Parts: sequence; C-alpha cells; structure tokens
Amino acid sequence: MDKVKWLQQLVQQNPQDAQTHYWLGKELAETGRWLEAVQSFSAGVAHCSDETLRAEIIHELTNATAQLQQEKLSHSASPPIIEVLPNEEEHSTSEEAEQKVKWIDRSAKFKVIDGGGEQKSEKPPISQVTFADVAGLDELKKTIHLRIISPFFNKGLFAKFRKKAGGGVLLYGPPGCGKTFIARATAGECQAHFYPVHITDILDPYIGVSEQNLKAIFDKARFQKPSIMFFDEVDTIGFSRAKSSANTRGVIDTFLAEMEGIDTSTDQMLVIGATNMPWDVDNALKRPGRFDRLIFVAPPDTEAREQIFQLKLEGRYMENIDVAKLAAQTEFFSGADIENVCELAAESVLEEILTTGNERPIRTEDLLNVLKTQQPSTLEWLRTAKNYVKYANQSGLYNDIEQYLRKYGRKI
Ligand code: ADP
Repeated sequence: MDKVKWLQQLVQQNPQDAQTHYWLGKELAETGRWLEAVQSFSAGVAHCSDETLRAEIIHELTNATAQLQQEKLSHSASPPIIEVLPNEEEHSTSEEAEQKVKWIDRSAKFKVIDGGGEQKSEKPPISQVTFADVAGLDELKKTIHLRIISPFFNKGLFAKFRKKAGGGVLLYGPPGCGKTFIARATAGECQAHFYPVHITDILDPYIGVSEQNLKAIFDKARFQKPSIMFFDEVDTIGFSRAKSSANTRGVIDTFLAEMEGIDTSTDQMLVIGATNMPWDVDNALKRPGRFDRLIFVAPPDTEAREQIFQLKLEGRYMENIDVAKLAAQTEFFSGADIENVCELAAESVLEEILTTGNERPIRTEDLLNVLKTQQPSTLEWLRTAKNYVKYANQSGLYNDIEQYLRKYGRKI
C-alpha cells in the first residue's frame, strides 16, 4: 500500500489526531497534491492543541495554500479550452439549462462557447439551519439571543440605550462542539446571508493580495445585507503578532480596519469568529469594537448528548436506542465525536450484515461496543485551557471556561 493510502487510513481511524493529518499533508504536498494537502493541514490545525506542532502546521498550510494559488494562476494563464454545448434533451425538461462540457486539447487558441444558461447569482442562500437543529447549548442560545439576535432585530431600541448592535463575536472552545454549526444557525435565526470564510480563501503568496481578498469578502457581505460573516480558525488569521510573519501582519491590520468600518448602529452586518485557540488570537482583535464578546462553546452536557445521539441516528434502521445510557457514557465527547460513534456503529452493523447475510437494525450494544474504542476528544483541549485559566485570566476573558472547570474540573 502506498504511503498516502496508509496515512489516509490512519486519518480515518484517528480523525482527531493532528499529527496524522500533518504527516498526510506533508506526503500529499511532496507529490504536488496541493488541494488535498491544504485540506489535511486545515484539519490538522483544527485538531491541534500542541503549540509547536500547530505553528509548524500553519507554516506548511501557508506554503501549500501559496502553491495552490500559484497552480490556479498558472492554469488561468493558459486555460484549457472549454466547449460548452447545450444539452438539448435535458434543456427541455429542466428550467436551469444544463450543459455538456467538453475539454478539448487545442494548445494555441482558446474558445469558450456559452450555452446561454443564466449566470448564477453569488448571493448565498439564507441559512436554513436554526437553533432547533442544534442540540443543547441552551445557555449559549440564550446568550446569542440576547447579545446577537435581539440587537439585530431591535436596532431602534438598542440605539435608544446607546447599545451597540452588530460588531464581532468570537466563539471559542474545543473542536467539534458546534461553533460552526451554531454560527450557521444564528444566521438562520436572523434570516441573514451566511458567509463562511476559511483561511485558504484569503491567503495568497503575492504581497498585498491576501489583504485584497479579505477586503473583497467584506465588500461582498456589505453588499448583501443582512449578512453574517463567519471566520473559522481566527487564530490562523490573527495569530499573535509576536508569532506572526510580516505577511500575516498585513492581513490582521486589514481585518481590524474592515471590522472597525462596520457601522454598528446602521449596518445589519455581523462578524462571528471561531477559534479553538483563543489565547493565540492577537490581543488587538479582542479589543472593544472588534471581537469584544468572547463566548465559550462548551462540550455538550448529558441532556445535549442525548439529543445529539437522537439527531445523528435519525432515519437510520435501528431498534429502540437507549440514548440516556449512551449519554451517560460519553462525558466530554464533542458533537463531532458522537457523530463519529454513530457512523462507526452503522458501519460495523453493515459489515456484519454483508458477511452473515442477516439483516438487522442498529442496537444500543453496537454503539456501546464502539464506545469501548473511542476517547473523548475535548479532554486535551480542556487540560490546556485549565492552564490558561490558571495563569492568563487576569482580565477575566476566560471566566466562562473558569465556571465550566469549577463544575467539571476535577474529572479532567
Ligand atoms: P466546531 O466548529 O466547534 O469545530 P462544528 O460546528 O463543525 O464544530 O461541529 C462538527 C459537527 O458536529 C457538526 O457538523 C454537527 O453535525 C455536529 N455537532 C456539534 N455540536 C452539535 C450540537 N450541539 N448539536 C448537533 N450537532 C452538533
């Protein structure tokens, strides 16, 4: 088996292991598979709590992103010839004119024949996910209602009290606990357009282009109000200045300028950031008027875990599942961990059916069996957080984690 395949298998078995994502990314980069390398490094960053490894992965991610951009540029300098032909049979049955695309290798002249299909609008749809899809996190939902959704709808009232609407909110917490999910749901609740932004949408090897990319994203969101922009892994954009290079510093400055350019009393625009490493986010980003509201997204509690099991098993062929028993045995499991447990259980039952030929539903024992092989992924993060709270919480930024640790700290 080649090394990439072997590493891909390892990643499948240990989706939370940053080191394996890193190795896979390196291997893919070596063979010039830049897009996959970027995906692997991104996954590595999302699951990494070791500072040295994280810095190394970010370095490789920046490099791979640069290579990918270069590849894109060289392709666009000499694009392949695309001949687009209307597909007549389908055209009559479908409203959106479908087209057959043929790649023709003619190195000298380029020709693009448009099939006449309507140009698609770049406007993202209003998010359909709402709080009803997010299990548990009731306190967080209340906070978001008070701090984000109400100001969004009651601008006049908030103006009377000179209370700001809009601005930036930074969600932080262990990976897989629903930061992205709840940001999307918040957009759904506000009936706003949702703009998810990833570091790879911004970074570019050419000086000044990353800043332009970032500015263009803000401009687009400004044009499509009401809008919620969601910046994942803010720490990689706003990596502590002390640790960042001259290149990323320009990006931080643009980011700050754009955020301050949002007029919170008139703009129906909100920036939500997420990070697993709030302590790595440049302090400049956490000042008033920027990401001045830090909200902790904790691992799901027992009740929420029950709901997540229910949600993730919904629609599968199963017997009455004892979700309370499963929830009791999954303390500190993230939503993503629980999703993974459900997937593995379904996989094992399918495998059994395929070998024995006897069809049967998923049972509670199947899930319990999988649990014997799984560890909660949030513990490592919580241990790191414990140290930061102990030694770096003078300003009270991490009071939410402190409160959580007071309740669960002894078990961590
Ligand atoms: P994060 O952004 O915190 O790393 P995500 O929001 O991407 O995590 O969550 C990963 C997946 O886990 C989501 O796609 C979702 O299906 C599931 N998940 C996490 N938390 C919840 C939750 N509270 N309710 C329902 N699903 C959840």
